[in-house]
Amino acid sequence: NADAAMYHAKKTGRNNFQFYSADMNAQASLRLAMETALRRAVEQEEFFIHLQPQIDLDTGKMNGAEVLLRWNSTQWGLVSPADFIPILEDTGMIESVGEWVLKQACQCFLNIKHKLAEDFKLAVNLSGRQFKGGNLASRIRYILAETGMPTKNLELEITETMLMEDPELATLTLSELSEMGISLAIDDFGTGYSSLSYLKQFPLNVLKIDSSFIRDVTTDKDDAAIVNAILAMTESLGLIVVAEGVETNEQLNYLRQHTCQCAQGYLFSKPVSEEAFYELAEKETLI
Ligand code: C2E
Ligand code: MG
Ligand code: MG
Ligand code: MG
Repeated sequence: NADAAMYHAKKTGRNNFQFYSADMNAQASLRLAMETALRRAVEQEEFFIHLQPQIDLDTGKMNGAEVLLRWNSTQWGLVSPADFIPILEDTGMIESVGEWVLKQACQCFLNIKHKLAEDFKLAVNLSGRQFKGGNLASRIRYILAETGMPTKNLELEITETMLMEDPELATLTLSELSEMGISLAIDDFGTGYSSLSYLKQFPLNVLKIDSSFIRDVTTDKDDAAIVNAILAMTESLGLIVVAEGVETNEQLNYLRQHTCQCAQGYLFSKPVSEEAFYELAEKETLI
């Protein structure tokens, strides 16, 4: 088709397409084509979710999982979230798609529940747009009641930037979610516009160290210093810490030696389908 002729979709490693084009018009028309396709993606059943285990580094057991949205487009095949999530956000579609993801996540949890620990946490990503709707907590409460999802098994991931854009609304919404028994995690910690004071201002439970600090933690003194500081800070604040993007045994050993509690990354498992996840949940350990 015309898009295919105009663009080169380059496959980079893991099902990840990067679109690049010579001119801005072409870029804009691809975006518009994607927007149109995304508007129909839910009804066309082109979305699905993957789950990626989170590992307790003391026991090697899975103690949680992150839910990640996937889009298998009839036109472009599997498109990276880095390419389509921004479109969902800009157009506001993320509000309904975000609720769709949460419902899928709850149904998935209830299917696998009997394989999982009592205090297993299923983590779902939230977008800033979902916050701005205003009645986020009551919408989430409704979905949990509708599906029968236990609030104590749900975790919501938010970013530093989302908190800082409207701190008053964030405080209200997060307090409500926290009172419901939902766990709250800061995603990509260290990469956003933030002030450390918000760590005590909001009712947070988990801090996820961004993968960019983990990548060279065993070889780069600066990254090691940042990771060590985050670990010390989370310990004294009583927050659970999760290292993101753990790919090597060297990184794992470093994190264990520096008493990092939890980790997530390709070393343990890539994000997988519900069926594959079911099998991972049966394993005694993932290390
Ligand atoms: P994120 O929330 O920080 O999710 C972690 C990303 O790191 C995922 O990318 C995951 O596949 C990838 N990852 C995990 N372990 C490794 C590793 O060891 N090495 C490397 N190189 N990557 C690893 P993914 O699935 O492409 O998602 C990218 C981003 O898209 C997410 O970053 C999140 O910000 C957003 N996203 C994904 N699903 C949703 C969703 O349902 N709602 C919202 N609002 N955003 C989502
Ligand atoms: Mg996340
Ligand atoms: Mg992250
Ligand atoms: Mg990220």
